[in-house]
Amino acid sequence: MRIDILTALPDQLRDALDVSVLRRAAGQIEVRVHDLRTYAAGKHQVIDDYAYGGAAGMVLKPEPIFACIEALQVSASVDEVIFLSPDGDRYTQAVANELSLKRRLVLLAGHYKGVDQRVRDVLVTREISIGDYVLSGGELPALVLVDSIVRLVPGVLRDASSALTDSFQDGLLGEPVYTRPASFRGMEVPSVLRSGDHDRIAQWRERARLTKTNNRRPDIRAAMKPQQEEVRHVD
Ligand code: SAM
Repeated sequence: MRIDILTALPDQLRDALDVSVLRRAAGQIEVRVHDLRTYAAGKHQVIDDYAYGGAAGMVLKPEPIFACIEALQVSASVDEVIFLSPDGDRYTQAVANELSLKRRLVLLAGHYKGVDQRVRDVLVTREISIGDYVLSGGELPALVLVDSIVRLVPGVLRDASSALTDSFQDGLLGEPVYTRPASFRGMEVPSVLRSGDHDRIAQWRERARLTKTNNRRPDIRAAMKPQQEEVRHVD
């Protein structure tokens, strides 16, 4: 898989990518960061301008973004051009799963007031929001996507089954987890987890996940399909 990220702040991304889960993905995933200024014309490499109509805030110009994405599309076909934006579709684990199966993604990080609408109309295939709040740039959202996608690619995590049992992966929140010591300041690890009885442990985990989901996220439980509910033994 290859991910190209277009940004006005390449250093912010490169530094973060250096210490991310990507270090473990070497050889399987290639992430390239593109400085939009490199694609801007003129000595001053201007990438933003005033908004038409007198609206407050600067807007990223279309020319450098078109030039960069068109150059990327020449070298190989791109599966999705994703614009990170607070008014996009809400990012979920299901979307991360879907994107982890793609071969080539382009992520566009906006800045200031956003990007010229013509970029969104013509180049962007998908718009994604990481939540109902506004950040100053799309770099952190791009990193959120990269991290969540990359850890799903087979071979990146040491134990592949770990990602499959995380919260949201099958619709429920994850269960509580414990490590040694078995007793700490009077707090005991549930005895079933130390019993070695795999069936009982699986039942305990399922019950714990259901309880936590019911308590914390009844909206998720309510949205479960009937077939999903049927395979749940415990209530
Ligand atoms: N004017 C935009 C609006 O009202 O929707 C907000 C622009 S925001 C200050 C600048 C950039 O940060 C956006 O273009 C986007 O790339 C990124 N951004 C901010 N919040 C985001 C979020 N919740 N999800 C994804 N991207 C976000």
